[in-house]
Amino acid sequence: MVCNRFQIEGMKLLDGEMSGEEKRVYEAHVQSCEECSKELKDMGRIVQFTNELRLRKPDDEFWPNYWRGIYRRLERGAGFLLLIIGMTAVTLIAIHRAVTSPEFFTPTGIGITIALVGLAVVFLSVVRERYHEHKNDPYKGVEQ
Ligand SMILES: [Zn+2]
Repeated sequence: MVCNRFQIEGMKLLDGEMSGEEKRVYEAHVQSCEECSKELKDMGRIVQFTNELRLRKPDDEFWPNYWRGIYRRLERGAGFLLLIIGMTAVTLIAIHRAVTSPEFFTPTGIGITIALVGLAVVFLSVVRERYHEHKNDPYKGVEQ
């Protein structure tokens, strides 16, 4: 069986020139037509095709959860970023003050500098550990 609907409708779809109703009709056809389904797959667009249609009827649960998830991730990411920026700024200012202070080369100044460097190293190591835990946690976002 040879079908030539792809030549017209398939191309229209790929060019984004189809209305919602036309897409629905054509998708129904693609599901039962090997020719069109194969052509679309070859163009690597069948996935996009079905996704677009799925987005048209959002699930009641899907969108609130989707936005909540994004918000939570953004919130944590922003908090984390601000924390790192703040700590870095404070450390840099402290180092600058220490280096420009006339007391820098006294035992007290050197002691404080070593303590500050140690603090920064510990902080960075904790940050790195948390980051890797977060990245590798397979149950991320799941209440345990
Ligand atoms: Zn067809």
